[in-house]
Amino acid sequence: MSDASNILVTGGAGFIGAHTCEALVRAGFRPVIYDNLSNSNAAVLDRLERLTGSRPAFIHADIRDAHQLERVFTDTSFDAVIHLAGLKAVGESVEQPLHYYDVNVTGTLTLLAAMRQGNVRTLVFSSSATVYGDPATVPIHEDFPRQPTNPYGRTKMVVEDILADLAGSDPDWRFALLRYFNPIGAHESGLIGEDPSGIPGNLLPYVAQVAVGRRQELSVFGNDYPTPDGTGVRDYIHVVDLAEGHIAALTHLTAQGGFVTTNLGTGNGFSVLEIVQAFERASGRRIPLRFAPRRPGDIAACYADPSHANRLLGWKALRDIDTMCADAWRWQSRNPHGYGGKDGS
Ligand code: NAD
Ligand code: UDP
Repeated sequence: MSDASNILVTGGAGFIGAHTCEALVRAGFRPVIYDNLSNSNAAVLDRLERLTGSRPAFIHADIRDAHQLERVFTDTSFDAVIHLAGLKAVGESVEQPLHYYDVNVTGTLTLLAAMRQGNVRTLVFSSSATVYGDPATVPIHEDFPRQPTNPYGRTKMVVEDILADLAGSDPDWRFALLRYFNPIGAHESGLIGEDPSGIPGNLLPYVAQVAVGRRQELSVFGNDYPTPDGTGVRDYIHVVDLAEGHIAALTHLTAQGGFVTTNLGTGNGFSVLEIVQAFERASGRRIPLRFAPRRPGDIAACYADPSHANRLLGWKALRDIDTMCADAWRWQSRNPHGYGGKDGS
């Protein structure tokens, strides 16, 4: 392991970050986590150690801390950065736009300045399908117009533009902009998974918490959308497939350089009711639900054309919806209160 490439993973203690660290170790890289734990728990380090046999180095710091970042690149030689640190709640971004621009945009600028100083020029960035807003048609191709409908989505679009400008100024930079669709599921071990604080805003963690008895019933936001059963359709992707997409992007950038913008999705859309049924199959539990009004800002259907990532990176999502739900249920049922609760063994 001593000659493994060091990869700095900002936000590495979070949901996608933890799974990306696991995939990095499996692929022979050495992840170093940089995270302020504002939306994660240090217990993830113990879990990663149990899962991979090695404890990732951890720097507890903020992505906007220029001095700390400078020190990180001085102390350790990194081959690349995977940048996941950021805020992601749409509703909160409407209420606190300055905070969102500060963490997501200023944080990225601070990171890029430190990378330039430390002479590290390879970055994989966590963008989002949210940059497409309400697409005119589905599936969504990478050349569709970007028209995010909320401050969170706009922070992702601004960062995409900053990276494009930087790449234009200096050909040594190598960037992969990965537009994630809806990551769900958990590592099959049940040791790491999604652990949202407070009431989950996303469908899957909410359904999982109903199944485990933490919440009474699911509110289905809207049943009058122009979709087959009237409920919203999304492209749910297993978080381990998503994590492996980062390895494919990193490998591509290292071998060929360049500027890559690609969707990471499965190409399949599932409705809210289909997800509920899949989770009932996986858990053997009934999920009580009631129909509620549409959630403001929601769109009817959003799913990817994943063929670009397949052609360019040789990557494809492999895990189906039943596997996603079974893995999410294993995590939730063994850790009813997430990392803060009972041990997952
Ligand atoms: P997460 O909240 O679980 O992980 C983000 C991590 O960043 C957390 O561990 C948090 O503590 C850390 N962080 C937040 N602010 C920080 C700061 N100022 N300094 C240092 N660390 C900080 O979220 P996630 O789902 O793992 O998402 C990771 C990235 O992927 C985010 O940038 C998010 O916007 C993006 N993304 C997520 C989704 C999704 O549905 N989960 C979809 C598209 C894009
Ligand atoms: N949804 C729902 N009830 C919930 C949370 C979400 O009906 O408690 C619906 C939501 O309206 C959307 C789908 O589930 O149609 C996915 O929502 P999520 O917030 O997980 O992802 P996003 O809307 O950001 O793609």
